[in-house]
Amino acid sequence: MHTKTIAELSRMLAAGETSSEELTRHYLERIRAHADLNAFITVTEEEALAEARRADALRRKGEAGPLAGIPIAQKDIFCTDGVKTTCASKMLENFISPYDATVVERMKRAGMVMLGKTNMDEFAMGSSNETSYFGPVKNPWDKTRVPGGSSGGSSAAMAARLAAATTGTDTGGSIRQPAALTNTTGLKPTYGRVSRYGMIAFASSLDQAGTITATAEDAAMLLNVIAGFDERDSTSVDKPVPDYTATLNDDIAGLVIGVPKEFFDDGLDPRVAECVREALKVYERLGAKIVDVSLPNLGLSVPTYYVVAPAECSSNLSRFDGVRFGYRCENPTSLEDLYKRSRGEGFGAEVKRRIMTGTYVLSAGYYDAYYLKAQKTRELIKEDFCRAFEKVDVLMGPTTPTAAFGIGEKTDDPITMYLNDIYVNGVNLAGMPGMSIPMGFIDGLPVGLQIIGNYFEEAKMLNFAHRYQRETDWHTKLPKGFE
Ligand code: GLN
Repeated sequence: MHTKTIAELSRMLAAGETSSEELTRHYLERIRAHADLNAFITVTEEEALAEARRADALRRKGEAGPLAGIPIAQKDIFCTDGVKTTCASKMLENFISPYDATVVERMKRAGMVMLGKTNMDEFAMGSSNETSYFGPVKNPWDKTRVPGGSSGGSSAAMAARLAAATTGTDTGGSIRQPAALTNTTGLKPTYGRVSRYGMIAFASSLDQAGTITATAEDAAMLLNVIAGFDERDSTSVDKPVPDYTATLNDDIAGLVIGVPKEFFDDGLDPRVAECVREALKVYERLGAKIVDVSLPNLGLSVPTYYVVAPAECSSNLSRFDGVRFGYRCENPTSLEDLYKRSRGEGFGAEVKRRIMTGTYVLSAGYYDAYYLKAQKTRELIKEDFCRAFEKVDVLMGPTTPTAAFGIGEKTDDPITMYLNDIYVNGVNLAGMPGMSIPMGFIDGLPVGLQIIGNYFEEAKMLNFAHRYQRETDWHTKLPKGFE
C-alpha cells in the first residue's frame, strides 16, 4: 500500500478498496519497524487513528474530499494544537502549541491524518539533519549517510514510505536539497504563496512551507490545499489559487528551458552534470527548447544567504529567553543569569553560531559592511533571475553538487556544509518557486534535478515535473528494505 501515490490512494479510498484506518495502521506499523532511521520526533498514534476513523465516517456520508483520510507527517517546525512542537531543539523540548499552523489547519480541514512530527535540523539550521537535539536522521538509501536538511526527517520518512507525504520548510534549500538526496519530489512554492503562520520563524524573508512527496502530481494535490491567502501572515499574497492538477499533462512542446551556466562549476560532481544532461534530453524529446542562460551573481548567493539568514534568525530567536517560551535553566541567580544560562543551555552549537554571526552583522560598526551589502547583492541575484525569466519558462540544473555525504563528514567544517546549498539558496533570496525531482543514481545514491519557476508559476513547474515523471521511472525506485 505504501508504494502507492496519494493520487492512487485517493482513488482506492473513493472506491472503497481500503479505508483510512487500514492505511493509517499500515504506516504506523512501518514507522515502528523503521524507528532506527530516527525520522520522527513524535508519533501521534492514537490521534491518528481517531482522525482516520473520522475521515472514514465522512466518506460513508459522501462528504469526503480527495485528500480525506490520507496519512501524512508534519515537519516539527509547524505548530500543532495539543501535540509537542520542538523544532528539534532542547529549547522547545516540551513546548505544546495552543494552536495549529495554517498549513496544519488546512490539511486537517481537508481530512488528512497526521501520523506525527518529523525530525529536522535544530530551528531548521543545517543541511544534513545532524544539528537536531534528537540526534541525526539516517538516509534510507545508505544508513551511514545524511538524508539532507533541514527537512531530513521528512525526506527520510518519504523515501522510506513511512507516510504518504510529508511537509517541509525551505529557507535556503531545506526542501529541495533533502528531496534530492533521498529520491523524493520536493516543492518550495513562491515566497508568500503558502502562509507562514504557525511555522516557527528562522529567517522570515526567506522561509516558505512546502511538501516532500513521491510525485509531482501528489505535490500539486497538496498545494491545492495549503496555498492561498492568510490574513494572519502579513507577507501572504492575496492571489487566486489555480487547480494545480489541471495543467499537469499540458503539452510542453515549444516551451523554453534555461540552463544557467553557473550551475556547472568546479564543485559539481561530473556524474551529476551527466544526469542533468540526460534529463534535458528527455525534455528535448518532449519538444522543449533548451537554451543557455547566465546568472552572473549566483556565486554571491551563499555569502549573501549566510549574512541575511543569520541576521534574521538572531532577531527571531531573541524570543527564546527562558521567560516566555520553552527551556529555563535551574536556579537562576539574577535576570541576566536566567537569560544567559537558559539560552546557553537551550540552544545547540549551530544555532549559537548563527545567532552570533547575525548579531555581529547587524551591530552598529558592521551593519553597512555586511548586512546592507548583503541586501544589495540579494537584489542583484534577484535581478539575474528576473532577467533570465524574460526569455525562458523554467530554469533547470542540479539540486546539489554531489549525492548524499556521510554522517559526520562535514560537521567539523561549517563552510563545506554551507556550500552544499550553493545551487538552492539563490532561489530563496529571489523568492521564486523551486522543485527537486529524482533524476538518477550515482553509485546507488539518488540525485535530483532542480526546476525553478518564475513568481507564482508553480503550475508550470509542476507541469514540467509531471511530464518528466511520465517518461521516466526514477521516482518509483525505493531503497532496499523499504519496498
Ligand atoms: N541549509 C541551509 C541553512 O542551514 C538552509 C536551511 C533551510 O532551508 N531551512 O541555513
